[in-house]
Amino acid sequence: MNATPIQKSDRDAPAARVPPRPIGTELAALTPLGEVVTEGPRLRAACRDGSEARGLRGATDALVLPASTAEVAAVLGWCYEHDVPIFTRGGGTGLAGGAVPDGGIVLSLEGQHAIRSIDPGLWRMEAESGVRTARIHKVARENGLMFPPDPGAGEQSTLGGNIATNAGGPHAFKYGVTGSWVTGLEVVLPPGEVVRIGGPVRKDVAGFDTLHLLIGSEGTLGVITAAWLRLAPAPESQTIVVGFYGDIESGCEAVAAIMAMGLQPAVLEYLDAGALAASIGSFPFPAPSDPAFAVIAEVDGSTDDVAARVAELAEVMSVGGLSGALQLSGRRDARALWGWRDGVSAAVTSQRGGKVSEDIVVPVDRLADAIQGTLAIGARQGLSTCSWGHAGDGNIHSSFLIEPGDTDELARAESAAGATFRLAIDLGGSISGEHGIGSLKTDWVETALGSTVVRIQEEIKRTFDPKLLLNPGKKIPAKVPAPPG
Ligand SMILES: Cc1cc2nc3c(=O)[nH]c(=O)nc-3n(C[C@H](O)[C@H](O)[C@H](O)COP(=O)(O)OP(=O)(O)OC[C@H]3O[C@@H](n4cnc5c(N)ncnc54)[C@H](O)[C@@H]3O)c2cc1C
Repeated sequence: MNATPIQKSDRDAPAARVPPRPIGTELAALTPLGEVVTEGPRLRAACRDGSEARGLRGATDALVLPASTAEVAAVLGWCYEHDVPIFTRGGGTGLAGGAVPDGGIVLSLEGQHAIRSIDPGLWRMEAESGVRTARIHKVARENGLMFPPDPGAGEQSTLGGNIATNAGGPHAFKYGVTGSWVTGLEVVLPPGEVVRIGGPVRKDVAGFDTLHLLIGSEGTLGVITAAWLRLAPAPESQTIVVGFYGDIESGCEAVAAIMAMGLQPAVLEYLDAGALAASIGSFPFPAPSDPAFAVIAEVDGSTDDVAARVAELAEVMSVGGLSGALQLSGRRDARALWGWRDGVSAAVTSQRGGKVSEDIVVPVDRLADAIQGTLAIGARQGLSTCSWGHAGDGNIHSSFLIEPGDTDELARAESAAGATFRLAIDLGGSISGEHGIGSLKTDWVETALGSTVVRIQEEIKRTFDPKLLLNPGKKIPAKVPAPPG
């Protein structure tokens, strides 16, 4: 029997006969109520995040802003079918390069910003991922409640980004990080399935704790589209006590004494001399000149309880070396103080135009060692160095100042950052307290966690995301090996 041979040209031609539609056209068809951007300043802005000060920038083919969970699912499904990497983005304030794309598409949740419900009597809220942190706080406050997690940059960061990084902030000392306040998630998992985990329940131990696997997963396991949040009654009263000290040791002694007394402030922060020098010019209250260290403590609760504890706090903070102190009561003063504190990072950056800043965490009794160690590391590299952070949590933002574009300084600062990771591990701590791993710290994950834990995490990653398309290169070491066989 004679078979008709297939013409070679027939085999090779099909792709050329039907030209593929441009990616923007494909994605626009999937997001009729959303938006797709394939060029211009918005696309360029979506290629960077809060890590830009250390020179990190990415590239992407399209910025996609779905308007609904169904549109997110459609986009994820299309990307999975066409092997296109997905870099999920909230407000882009992350400091570890987590939202910086490396090709593929940027999937922005900014278009999903509804508060779906608030039940003041039941202390809970359901909100979409693109709601800004400051709005969550405002809506809670207007209902006599509070949502305690308060990472900086609240006007720009989003609920989804906070959950994906399990963000902290000053009030995490008493109230815990974001994950402590999330009871459920609506999430889109590969290859485009919408799943609800948990919900408006206050307790849930069914199965493994998948909820807390997704919290802090930095966009590598699924796309969070909405969350159920636990709220708390707003405290009746707050007072802030600020103590200025002549040296690091006295300040850290005050921190240890506050903890030992069981005063349980809501906030326990510190700034060292360099951070104060950069920011004291805009401090909204009288302050000593050239303070070497500051401790900020906030007490909240009923008016009588706050008054009693503030008196004790002021006494405990009056250790040797105290060069000045102030007490701030009332919402306006608190807003001014925390507004200033929110600007410390930018004030430090503005000293030389750039900085490499890390967020190591150590056991709180090693705080002074970590602060001194950071200064010694910076001095060895010949860099202007300072730190500030969440003293009560032992969480330090070690910062090495650089001039943008100076590649030699950048290399020395990156080397100093590596040395702070070593320092944290040696002191019994970890390489990130709250900013996450992103793309900047993946090389250190195995050193911090050990190979067994990393292997388990790689298997978890592959279970959620078999094609490894969600935020590739982030959170765990860059190469997740293929399964055996
Ligand atoms: C001035 C300043 C102060 C800061 N202070 C603090 C602080 O005190 N404590 C603290 O913890 N952090 C702090 N940060 C870091 C940052 O603000 C937080 O990590 C914030 O929660 C990130 O939110 P975002 O919406 O900007 O997320 P992005 O930067 O957009 O994304 C962060 C990560 O989350 C992922 N992601 C975002 N949205 C989703 C989603 N819907 N689903 C799945 N993955 C998602 C991204 O892929 C990325 O990996 C600060 C940043 C700045 C600029």
